[in-house]
Amino acid sequence: MTHILHRSIGPELPRAVAGEGVWITDADGKRYIDGSGGAAVTSLGHGNAEVLDAMRAQMDAIAYAHTSFFTTDAAESLADRLVALAPEGLDYVYLVSGGSEAVEAALKMARQYFVEIGQPQRRHIIARRQSYHGNTIGALATGGNEWRRKQFQPILPETHHVSPCYAWRDMAEGETPDDYAARLAAELEDKIIELGADQVIAFVAEPVVGATLGAVPAVPGYFKRIREVCDKYGVLFIMDEVMCGMGRTGTIFAHEQEGVVPDIVTIAKGLGGGYQPIGAVLLSAKIYDAFRDGSGLFQHGHTYIGHPIAAAAADKVVEIMSRPGIMDNVNAMGQRLQQGLEAALRQHPNVGDIRGRGLFRGVELVADRETREPLDPALKTHAKIKKAAMARGLMCYPMGGTIDGVRGDHVLLAPPYIINAEEVDQIVERLTGAIRDVLG
Ligand code: PLP
Repeated sequence: MTHILHRSIGPELPRAVAGEGVWITDADGKRYIDGSGGAAVTSLGHGNAEVLDAMRAQMDAIAYAHTSFFTTDAAESLADRLVALAPEGLDYVYLVSGGSEAVEAALKMARQYFVEIGQPQRRHIIARRQSYHGNTIGALATGGNEWRRKQFQPILPETHHVSPCYAWRDMAEGETPDDYAARLAAELEDKIIELGADQVIAFVAEPVVGATLGAVPAVPGYFKRIREVCDKYGVLFIMDEVMCGMGRTGTIFAHEQEGVVPDIVTIAKGLGGGYQPIGAVLLSAKIYDAFRDGSGLFQHGHTYIGHPIAAAAADKVVEIMSRPGIMDNVNAMGQRLQQGLEAALRQHPNVGDIRGRGLFRGVELVADRETREPLDPALKTHAKIKKAAMARGLMCYPMGGTIDGVRGDHVLLAPPYIINAEEVDQIVERLTGAIRDVLG
């Protein structure tokens, strides 16, 4: 009997009682390998002593100070560190408590920017179908995932969506990646013109699409073209790195691999590594200056923004992940994971595509490898694989609706950055077993 409204009502969940490295232990003593970092959260693994010490030190000093009265060393240090690590052009940080809050803040920041600079007519947000940007109303409206939006549609603010960059399914036969990128950039441009060349606030995209597509990076050159279209119409470019950022794809910021600098970046998840709920928005000096020279404030705020213990935890998490060797391990173990999955699953009749970057990998499942026909959604294959994997002591993050919110299944993997080769092989073995349990 539980008094918690859990995510799903019904199945009894095991009780997590301990965590160490890439392992979680439940109340029955069963051990699970955290192959998905929860939902791509546990960047440094469980029980990191240095992070826990940093949190304790902050708790002993002061646990909470409201940000309208005080700043703290922890928050200042974290902001300095993030700006120092970010590509040039992202000079300020706004701290929040999670990914959805980061996206909400980014949207309001973008809107207020145009009010400050005398373009208050701008009112449209454009994002992509098959994206996920969070579950609060504004973030949910921004996301393009049909099943998540459907029942809330009547209360969502108006948002517009264009195609994702999903080459494995959507690149036409005979089309080169460059043609495909150009086609998608033209689609964005057409949408901006349709809404009014001076009416659009921002374009929002995940550099590597996580929860909804299963670790899908864009084709080379796509984001450069997107940046050009945004610049042409004075539209702000927001990159949502809540899931793929903070080292997940092998660089601290995922967009570093795209050769473009967005105006606003959202981060969370791996930033706090699960030690504390924290998110952040990085913004360009152009936006900061507009606030400073205009109304003198960003009209936003929550009670817990810049929370000292969260900031202290994140500051230590980011300091550790930026030490020499950690990103090398993400890249090396990511390669091993990709190769291991390919060796074990390439020939499986229901495995369509294996993809991703760094320790962010996705396996897309199909009914037919040749035609790429998806599995019947009524089978709920993704849910069965999650259950089978848990039975085998593996946490992975399967999801349905990959193609259009209804059809398609994939499994997302996002283990901690400290994983070793033997543990990577365990993930491959257990996931292969779970897929065979369900699909034969
Ligand atoms: N943005 C992206 C890209 C995400 O993947 C998520 C969560 O999965 C969010 C935003 C929302 O973050 P949170 O669940 O911390 O609110």
